Amino acid sequence: MKIVLLGATGSIGKSARNCINRFPDRFQLAGLSVNKQTQQLPGLIREFHPASICVADSKAASEIRKSIPHSVHFYSGESGLEELINETEFDVLLNALVGAVGLRATVAALKRNKRVALANKESLVVGGEYITRLLAAGCGMIIPVDSEHSAILQCLCGESKEDIESIILTASGGPFRETAVGDLPAITPAQALNHPTWSMGKKITIDSATLINKGFEVIEAHHLFNVPYEKLRVLIHPQSIIHSMVEFHDGAVMAQLGVPDMELPIQFALSYPHRLPLPSPRLNLTSLRELTFFEPDYERFPCLKLCLAAGKKGGTAPAIVNAANEVAVALFLDGRIRYDQIAQSIDYALEVQSSEPVDSIETIENTDRLVRAQILKRFG
Ligand code: MG
Repeated sequence: MKIVLLGATGSIGKSARNCINRFPDRFQLAGLSVNKQTQQLPGLIREFHPASICVADSKAASEIRKSIPHSVHFYSGESGLEELINETEFDVLLNALVGAVGLRATVAALKRNKRVALANKESLVVGGEYITRLLAAGCGMIIPVDSEHSAILQCLCGESKEDIESIILTASGGPFRETAVGDLPAITPAQALNHPTWSMGKKITIDSATLINKGFEVIEAHHLFNVPYEKLRVLIHPQSIIHSMVEFHDGAVMAQLGVPDMELPIQFALSYPHRLPLPSPRLNLTSLRELTFFEPDYERFPCLKLCLAAGKKGGTAPAIVNAANEVAVALFLDGRIRYDQIAQSIDYALEVQSSEPVDSIETIENTDRLVRAQILKRFG
């Protein structure tokens, strides 16, 4: 099976390469992209012999282009991601890009009727309504890589969607699960980057601290599983052992458990509907002291509340939240705004920018551009 891996040097990208290396007879890396991490490219080309590569950052691309062998198709810039997908022979796109920039890549692969192993949740957050129409028209398929959605998919194997009473997405609660609301403004980037259970990239680690990540995941689940928002619940589960659950009409609850490790959902998305062996640490049930669950506190996690409201509103509202959050998180990591101003930025964006129907990718991208400029002007 030929795989295109976008975001090859990130945390998901690294785990994906481990999965590909484990099964050289089964998986082949046909194409890959990096953003600015071009120093890793020569090693990746030697190891995987991809037919195509893309360096998404244009400046980094012009610096490295000359040292790439002529036998490799070279693409550059954000448009290069789409070109690579359109011109490379492959079976599965593993989209591990960070942010709304991943939408066009997902759409391009679906339009070629390919399977998308989706780690870029923003594709469905900002473009869910658009992508749902593509899937309904018979274009390709999406298998989630996000651990919660992979868990839900595993719980739903062999089940009928009509029998679902609710889907429960679990959240670790991040490092500020018990922080007093009054202490939120003083939180530093270093504190927010210290996630208790998962080791991930910076953007998603901050999103996990504010719990906006869980709001995005509810929107993602709504589109992926075609389940109304009323049936989607979030529970804080600090141990991160149950990755999500599905409750059925007869009261049965199916859960997927495991040691937190992204290689499982990545590998499952590549091998679905089959399973392949994975030599990861096993869950030792007798050493688990407790599994606890709490309702999220919306005062402590205002980003989650804003995100869920935007999801229910639909149209471009989730794209507004996502754009404001992407800019605000970057400003926070730069030390230019306080932690509590991330939520303020999103609130402000929803106030100044009204939601419109999603009729095209351009509508989503225009909204994204406008909101980024508004947040930079007001908070940057
Ligand atoms: Mg997740």
